[in-house]
Amino acid sequence: MMCEMCGQEKLHLYKAIVEGSLLSVCDKCKNFGNVISVEKPKLEEQKKVKKPEPKFVDEEKQEVVVDDFAKKIKEAREKMALTQEQMAKSIAEKESIIHKIESNLMVPPMSLIKKLEQFLRIKLIEEFDSNKRPVKDFSLKDETVTIGDLIRIKKK
Ligand SMILES: [Zn+2]
Repeated sequence: MMCEMCGQEKLHLYKAIVEGSLLSVCDKCKNFGNVISVEKPKLEEQKKVKKPEPKFVDEEKQEVVVDDFAKKIKEAREKMALTQEQMAKSIAEKESIIHKIESNLMVPPMSLIKKLEQFLRIKLIEEFDSNKRPVKDFSLKDETVTIGDLIRIKKK
């Protein structure tokens, strides 16, 4: 912010009528004219700081399937005394899909995970914060055959 009369840099300027024209002037120069209002140049900047960018938040947090989903699904199903086939029918999915999921051979898509969460009344999704935890890579599990391998085998 620069005083339009003396050219000095000031934090606060005043709107003043000096010799018939409206100017932004410093506290010294304001005495030469009639002050109308005090300018608050920081107001816009304050607004920006207070409001976080929603885009940024979205990128940091995302929903992920819990690591032990296979065990959780199997245990919850057994508690309800349902076979894989019965549960598959109840949620309109193929029995083979349920089998693959419970055997940890397949990471179910979010839509199916949400269906299973509702049906079994268990929590299978956690909020993933990239700032707090490193990215969990399913293909790096210490098993001889990885999920990535299985998908490739199946395609052949
Ligand atoms: Zn001035």
